[in-house]
Amino acid sequence: MQPQTHYSLKAHHSFHFDIYCEYFTRVTDRHALTTALTWAQQNNQPVTLLGGGSNMVFTQSMQGLVVQIALQGIEVIAETTEYVTLRVAAGENWHGFVVWCLDHGYYGLENLSLIPGTTGAAPIQNIGAYGVEIAEYLTAIHVLDRNTHEQKCLDPSLCQFGYRSSQFKSEWKDQYAITAIDLTLDKQFNPKTGYGAIENELKRRNIDAPTAHDISNIVCHIRRQKLPDPDQIGNAGSFFMNPIITADTFATLQHHYPDLPHYPQANGDIKVAAGWLVEQCGWKGKRRGDVGVHQYQSIVLVNHGDGSGDALMALAAEIIDDVKKRFGITLHIEPNIY
Ligand code: FAD
Ligand code: NAP
Repeated sequence: MQPQTHYSLKAHHSFHFDIYCEYFTRVTDRHALTTALTWAQQNNQPVTLLGGGSNMVFTQSMQGLVVQIALQGIEVIAETTEYVTLRVAAGENWHGFVVWCLDHGYYGLENLSLIPGTTGAAPIQNIGAYGVEIAEYLTAIHVLDRNTHEQKCLDPSLCQFGYRSSQFKSEWKDQYAITAIDLTLDKQFNPKTGYGAIENELKRRNIDAPTAHDISNIVCHIRRQKLPDPDQIGNAGSFFMNPIITADTFATLQHHYPDLPHYPQANGDIKVAAGWLVEQCGWKGKRRGDVGVHQYQSIVLVNHGDGSGDALMALAAEIIDDVKKRFGITLHIEPNIY
């Protein structure tokens, strides 16, 4: 293997910071992945895995080898009249895969349309949107142990999938390379329209009985309207997770802030909107040099052009501090920091 040296990552991550890595390689099959991991071991180099780079903040030049996961392929591995189980290679584009499912009459992922990135990274934070999470459909996660190079098939019940979280982000951090995922999808469409934005758009379009394509189109439409396109202005989507607080804490807060948007959870806790908290602290649209808070979406931090990961993290620290002082809530950062 001959990795590229002093390689620019600017085009490979959605903040588009001007960052270089020492070594870079792109792998399109499992053998090449094993070869890359072996090369790194033999040369004593740390490894960073990269998918679409839409959930990474690079704060410094990257030491060692960056491995871009580009394994391709979608196959049907089991099928009944009601369900289909698919195996998707880790480097497939997530939205491309969602569209492929819709075109083949396999349903469940519509609400996750247009989420950037790869299928292999999707389990890392249990991607979710509009009331659906990938964990609901995952039936196996195929991995390569990054140290032993042993192949394993992980049962999703071991992965502790939660709200934008999993074992891959915590105890298993840097332990596995995901090579493929299995998902079991429905052949009968069952729309999930619980989020107000989808309901409103269905009404506006006079659609009473939406098809899966309708829901996907609507989700894409809302997202294009609301979210900044990373190719126009660098960002990683939501920068902060929506905090989940106890009902008691919420009751005290609501007394002072009756407008605080909130969503009760199954266990009685309350999810509150991080974007609202940030906006109330006056951060919407603010800049610190070339990084800032998006002018319409306070939950999205942006790179206006020549920003850096360090400047972004300094901005994030200021925001977290303000929200803590005003509301007593600690915001947690969603993307992976390097
Ligand atoms: P990367 O950013 O490349 O990697 C993320 C992490 O996973 C890194 O730590 C990386 O090392 C690791 N990794 C990548 N591939 C592998 C692999 N094969 N094996 C092991 N580790 C790996 N997220 C949501 O949940 N819901 C949304 O609605 C949503 N909307 C977004 C909108 C925008 C505009 C943007 C920019 C981002 C959004 N995101 C959203 C965040 C992001 O798209 C998801 O987290 C996505 O799954 C990241 O995929 P990626 O391939 O870009 O991962
Ligand atoms: P929104 O509709 O403006 O709502 C703000 C927040 O309130 C959302 O984050 C959502 O939480 C919550 N919410 C709204 N309606 C809800 C309901 N009926 N039940 C429970 N919670 C509700 O949100 P948005 O920013 O435009 O995003 C729309 C969806 O896309 C959300 O699900 C969001 O998570 C997802 N998204 C994620 C990212 C990312 O990078 N992670 C980026 C863009 C969009 P949840 O976030 O828990 O759903």
